Amino acid sequence: MGKTVAEKIIKTHLVDGKMTKGSEIGIKMDQTLTHDVTGTLAYLAFESMKIPKVKTEFSISYVDHNLLQVDYKNMDDHLFLKSTAEKFGVHYSKAGNGICHSVHYQRYAVPGKTLIGSDSHTTTTGGLGVLAIGAGGMDVAMAMAGEAFHLTMPFITNVVLTGELKPGVAPKDIILELLRRLSVKGGLGKIMEYTGEGIKSLRVPDRATITNMGAELGATTSIFPSDEMTRKFLKAQGREEDWTEILPDENAVYDEVIEIDLNELEPMIAKPDMPDNVVPVKECSHVKVDQVYIGSCTNASYSDIKKAAVMLRDKTVHPDVSFILSAGTRQTFQELIRDGVIQSLVTSGARIMEPGCGACVGIGQAPNSGGVSVRTSNRNFKGRSGTMDAHVYLASPEVAAAAALTGYIEDPRRVFNSRELAAFVEPTKYLVDDSQVIKPKNKHTDEVEILRGPNIKPLPINEGITETLKAHVVSKLGDNMTTDDIIPAGSIFSSLRSNVPEISKITFGRIDPNFVERTQQYKKSIIVGGENYGQGSSREHAAIAPMYLGVKAILAKSIARIHKANLINFGILPLIFRDKKDYEYIARDDELEVVQIINQIKNKKISIRNNTQNLIIETVLDISDREAELLIAGGRLNYVKQKNQI
Ligand code: SF4
Repeated sequence: MGKTVAEKIIKTHLVDGKMTKGSEIGIKMDQTLTHDVTGTLAYLAFESMKIPKVKTEFSISYVDHNLLQVDYKNMDDHLFLKSTAEKFGVHYSKAGNGICHSVHYQRYAVPGKTLIGSDSHTTTTGGLGVLAIGAGGMDVAMAMAGEAFHLTMPFITNVVLTGELKPGVAPKDIILELLRRLSVKGGLGKIMEYTGEGIKSLRVPDRATITNMGAELGATTSIFPSDEMTRKFLKAQGREEDWTEILPDENAVYDEVIEIDLNELEPMIAKPDMPDNVVPVKECSHVKVDQVYIGSCTNASYSDIKKAAVMLRDKTVHPDVSFILSAGTRQTFQELIRDGVIQSLVTSGARIMEPGCGACVGIGQAPNSGGVSVRTSNRNFKGRSGTMDAHVYLASPEVAAAAALTGYIEDPRRVFNSRELAAFVEPTKYLVDDSQVIKPKNKHTDEVEILRGPNIKPLPINEGITETLKAHVVSKLGDNMTTDDIIPAGSIFSSLRSNVPEISKITFGRIDPNFVERTQQYKKSIIVGGENYGQGSSREHAAIAPMYLGVKAILAKSIARIHKANLINFGILPLIFRDKKDYEYIARDDELEVVQIINQIKNKKISIRNNTQNLIIETVLDISDREAELLIAGGRLNYVKQKNQI
């Protein structure tokens, strides 16, 4: 049977399991990436494994999210990242060099390789034929240690593109159309693989826009073949030798096929507050706009920004609009300066930010109260822009330029003529300057000192499992608790990213102000939850902080997939009520007891005695044998230490 592109790459990296859909597989990761928000924890985890150097082919630490230097914490964290990179043989991309995913596909992604990154949009480099997956920092640390990454063998959806995009319609509209059809859950457990005549006219940056927002579909990853267009891009980047052709076999079998006729596509827009709330732009015509942002890892390539400059040339943006612009990378920024594009945009009224995430994630450039912001980024969740009641719309650079000029959401084909909407080719030779990436030197690692400012605290490690567990119910929660309910995003992004003792003080603070106090009183505790406990962002802080506070188990009706993986990584038992009605027979402050834990974990069933109410509650552990071993070891770090006798 013929193979898809994704299957070909998985097959050459398979180290564990069989490629049967739905079963667990382990794959070797060739490359890793981290950024400043998730990187500090990942390198603390790696450091604790006492492995002198990373075992991957290539690892890189980017600084791109929070570039503000309002106090010592950010600079301290950046120096920590720089020194850990040097010590462990990791490349370090300095603040100002650009957004991790955009720099990575320009300079380091190699078709046919595997990449794991501690960010959900790691999928971006799938545009270049890489099998690229986002995960928690601990999984990235494990990959750096040479451990396989485990996942459920995904189903593979073939997205067949036919025809060609018309002027005014952009690659962004392809992924918005998919989100309209499939929703933010449409890609769960799947790899989206793009083929068809329509891909031939999409350049690598266009493809990267599409694979980037595959994360919004919930897909494991998205991938394009590595073809002639990929070769041309790598040649223009001065690294043609990195190219290999990877096409699907003619008789490749896909689990599902979706067709999009690019000739029929029209400009689309995602309305507030969900990326799948997509309609044709014309349905939002005349919505008044306060802010326009062209930037982010989704849409800030050379051609994205040059298109906007041509549309706005010799014109001035609407007086009521704050027009913000930020190139994805320093390479793109330098080219735009060289070619007079930045000059032209500043003349039109654009405000230029340095290459980085910033506005995309609410670090600066928050819209006015109740304001409307049209953005080329990928997420428009409530509050992400930094303003809780702002209305954020997601669209292409063409739609953003039309909004900047007119002050309203408009179909760009009604605002600009066909000459202004003409497509622009990417440079045939990019400006290559890697001077802001520090390569690891061949120093003896003992000579490198890790620099730790007061904001860098050691990564807490689970104390390990005991044969008998006696713990109290510290909190009884309802359905759909999010990781934001456990640890709010703002605290991590702003400054506390690796300071677990400080982060733990705000655990559950929004919904249960005395939570932390009770964990101190009980020492060992269990959280009881309803359905879908731990949904939302993949942040592992939502597992580490409870572990630090002595939480030994989550007992819930169901637990969200990524959060369950994070709990296991940090040695917290993810227990599910065998009979959901038992949720009623347990109350806050009850004393619970489990005996012979190790045997019970092996059997994946755990009986809990509720000493307060004098009854037994049966629970199940929906985990693989490998995950059972991790739990018995007291979490992933303990497991690796025991295995390597550290
Ligand atoms: Fe995440 Fe936005 Fe940065 Fe992309 S630009 S990595 S979506 S914060």
